[in-house]
Formats: sequence, C-alpha cells, structure tokens
Amino acid sequence: MDIAYPPRLSLARLPTPLEPLDRLSESLNGPRIWVKRDDLTGSHLSGNKIRKLEFVIARAKEEGCDTLITCGGLQSNHCRATALLGAQLGLKVHLLLRGEASGVPDGNLLLDYLAGAEVTCYPARGYSARLPALAQHWQEHYQAQGRKAFFIPIGASDATGTWGYVACCEELRRDFQAHNINPAYIVCASGSGGTQAGLTLGCALYDLPSQVLGFAVCDDEAYFQAKVREDLQAWKRRYAPKQSLPLESIVVNDNYIGPGYAKATPEVFDTIKWVASTEGLVLDPVYSGKAFHGMVEEIRQGRFKGVEDIVFVHTGGIYGLFPQREEMFSLL
Ligand SMILES: *Cc1c(COP(=O)(O)O)cnc(C)c1O
Repeated sequence: MDIAYPPRLSLARLPTPLEPLDRLSESLNGPRIWVKRDDLTGSHLSGNKIRKLEFVIARAKEEGCDTLITCGGLQSNHCRATALLGAQLGLKVHLLLRGEASGVPDGNLLLDYLAGAEVTCYPARGYSARLPALAQHWQEHYQAQGRKAFFIPIGASDATGTWGYVACCEELRRDFQAHNINPAYIVCASGSGGTQAGLTLGCALYDLPSQVLGFAVCDDEAYFQAKVREDLQAWKRRYAPKQSLPLESIVVNDNYIGPGYAKATPEVFDTIKWVASTEGLVLDPVYSGKAFHGMVEEIRQGRFKGVEDIVFVHTGGIYGLFPQREEMFSLL
C-alpha cells in the first residue's frame, strides 16, 4: 500500500518484538495473548510517546523551532520522553506540569530534571482550561528571547502524532505474517487517545483483521469517542482530505478506570504482580497495568470467547511504578 508519510525522525528502537504470553494465556483458558513490546522502544525513552514524537518533532524542526513546550501530569511519560529527546537533539524543552511537586522528585519527574528540562508546575484545578493561554504565554516568552517554540499537545496526540501508530500498524502487519496469526483484537490503554487513533486508522489503511479496543484510564467513553474522532478528522484535513475514516471502528471500554487518573485499585496492583511473576513483564499502575487488568477481566467474563489471538500493546510506563511503590509494596 502506498501511504504518503510526512517527515519522520528515526528515534525509537524499531521494530519492537511481538511476543506470546503462553503461561498466562493458558492459565486464563482464553485467547492466546500477544504483547507488542513498545515498552522496548528505548530504555529511558521507553513507551508509546516516542513513536508519535518521531513525527511531531520532525514537524517542529521543519518549522524551524529550537524549543519544545509540552504538558502533562507530574509523572507524565510523554513529558519525560520529550525532555530526553530534546536533550538528545539539542532542543530546549519546557514542561508545563499539572500538580504541585513535593519532596524529592521521583520516577519520570526525576528524569525530566536530569535531562535539563525547564519545569513549571501549575495547580491541577483548572489546569486543562488554562493550557491554551499558558502555551501562548510561553511561546511569546521565547519569541521575545529570539527563540521559536513549538507547542506539543498532551500526549503528542494530534493530527501529526497519529502517524506514530499508523506506522506501528505497518510493523504489526509484518508481525502477523511472520507468526501467521489474525488477531481479532488489538488492545491498548487510552490516556490522550493518540495511540488508539493511530491504531484504528492504521488497521484500516493496512487492512489488518483486528478491532482496536481502547481501555480508558482517566476520562469516560464519550470523551474518548470524541477525542479519537477529533484526532482522526484533524489528520484527514491535514494529510489526506480524500481518505475515508474508520470512525465506526472506535471502541472504548471505560469500566476499569477505577478511582481516577493515576489511581489504581488493589486489583490492578495484583494483576501487575501476577504478570511480572508469571511472565517477567512489568506493567505500570497508570496505563498499561490498568488496561491489561481490564483485558484479563473481560477474558474471565467470557467476552473474547472463540477468539484465537489478541494483541496487547505494551505502551511502557515503568517509571510510573516507582512513585507508587507504597501501594505496590503493600501487596507483595
Ligand atoms: C501516554 C500513555 C498511554 C496512553 O496513550 P495515549 O496515546 O495518550 O492514549 C498508555 N501507556 C503509557 C505508558 C503512556 O505513557
């Protein structure tokens, strides 16, 4: 298939492996679970954000920018990846983080500082509503210094970031051929929606046999339906006005959000422990652990009856485990 990709930087360690979790699948007596190891896109750059940033930072450079401004929670994997990539590429990075940092920085925040990123924290209350004004303020601030700052939206989920997981589908097509499988589902965690948007579009463009199923980790189904749709429509406007979009293929499960963003139930921590000790695979309590737990619960409830193969995209997040070590340790 001839898909006209925009400029892209080669930053992630690709292709990532696709591996079966045989012991775990057997104990569930359900479909064979495969893991797309996007936690292995790079050690400190680990996770899904680097796939999107390959396209987004290429665009920033193309527009002549020397500074990246982005946003997220205090333990944002996206901000950590941006901070480290900025250092790697010689770009200044300024992070606008949601929440008040207290005590010694841990996990992703520690890596943000290590990478030399500028960090400004804002109260969680009203943060989302303030973001457009904050982005504009800081862009003007850098302009006055003779710099040019590019603003990357939360999670790098926008028209350009969508390409990251479209490209992943090209990899998955080869993976499926190599293993001779036709997985009925591709499962991912949905936080800002860009991974789900890219996978959903990529499955259509590369004619994969799979339905993408996003497990919401923060907002509800209606939110992600709208967000994924919005990203896909923005992608179409910018890159492929004639392309029809798979809008009817957006499927979101919001039954496993638990107490809220970055807050997991003891059952999620139990699943993380079980997967680590059964397969040596480490998930995180904010994203991948929640989504994996949701998938396992759905298998236990018979939701995937008759399905032979299912792919879980391990989107990374390991550094988010350490700031929650007390919750984890209480179950060990
Ligand atoms: C950001 C993130 C996600 C969610 O991906 P989105 O594209 O933002 O929906 C999932 N897992 C991890 C580890 C992440 O950092």
